[in-house]
Amino acid sequence: NRQFLLARRPEGRLRESDFDYREAPVPAPGPGEVLTRTLYLSIDPANRAWMFPDPTYRPPIEPGEVMAGFTLNEVVDSRDARFRPGDLVECDGGWQDQAVLPGDALYKLEPRKPLSHWMSVLGVTGKTAYFGMLEVGRVRAGETVLVSAAAGAVGSFAGQIAKLHGCRVIGIAGGPEKCRWLTEELGFDAAIDYQSGELSERLAACCPEGVDVYFDNVGGAVFQAALFRMKTHGRIVCCGCVSILDTETPPPRLLGVPGLLPIRRLRLEGFIVMDFYGRRRQAEQALAGWVAEGRLKVREDIIDGLENAPRALMGLLHGANIGKRMIRVAPE
Ligand code: NDP
Repeated sequence: NRQFLLARRPEGRLRESDFDYREAPVPAPGPGEVLTRTLYLSIDPANRAWMFPDPTYRPPIEPGEVMAGFTLNEVVDSRDARFRPGDLVECDGGWQDQAVLPGDALYKLEPRKPLSHWMSVLGVTGKTAYFGMLEVGRVRAGETVLVSAAAGAVGSFAGQIAKLHGCRVIGIAGGPEKCRWLTEELGFDAAIDYQSGELSERLAACCPEGVDVYFDNVGGAVFQAALFRMKTHGRIVCCGCVSILDTETPPPRLLGVPGLLPIRRLRLEGFIVMDFYGRRRQAEQALAGWVAEGRLKVREDIIDGLENAPRALMGLLHGANIGKRMIRVAPE
């Protein structure tokens, strides 16, 4: 069983030497446990956040442990009556070929083509965009919606979902290729390349009347610039802060936030997609329906080979992907 472990807590930016590779025997499943093999490994900014010593919505990964990661797995052997060999499950299988997990930690999925959609539009990513935009952002037709990391996995779905609901959508992304994709392929009304030019001025030009809903995937300087563009009673969906996860030195504290929140009566609301998992089937149906109708475009960035997982994550944290990045660990 090929595995990547967290070798140490990263200092500064993540390096390959922060991971250890090993091959270990696969344990037999005990009572209530299921042996699975990994088909796809999701590469997520959260992987980096879990390496910090502070808990997030899950305990931190300790050095010496197998790297955690959302995966799409196939059941190989089961000592839980609910699962049989060949079943498809979503789980935290980690960065390894095979995982033994308690049956309670598995979420059974219907086989569908392509399977990778369970890691992108129908998985954590799509559901984060769906619930974040509709339940936390509560967007309404005619509103101006700003999305950061808009050419990334969550951002590209979040922006399209706002468009589907009649909003004017502006995306922020790094580089002209990503911006072109947003406006020419996904139907965003405008896209701003935050890596060239002054972001605040470009935001003012694109959203002269301000922003009703900002879906924040990045935090840091982009958050700061967006904050000053918010309308009174605007809503900020705090989804994530990828810009401050993998930096040489810890970022300075955000300026201006404590003052602006009360003055503009902003509602800043954090969420974790799992809060909505009681209704995850509803999201899957809606998302799959939009995909089938051609109203939601899915772009996946699939890299072959578990051995590429560390580099895939390091690249993702600095913009190497368009759409949802994942590792194909084994052929379907
Ligand atoms: P992405 O596919 O969006 O990949 C990360 C992207 O972040 C990169 O492609 C890069 O694009 C952008 N980025 C990196 N550094 C910066 C920077 N300094 N400033 C601006 N953008 C930057 O990842 P995901 O879609 O998986 O995740 C997006 C966000 O959603 C993350 O913050 C993640 O933690 C969060 N999330 C939250 C969940 C929740 O339940 N709340 C669940 C899932 C994800 P670019 O080239 O444009 O810079």
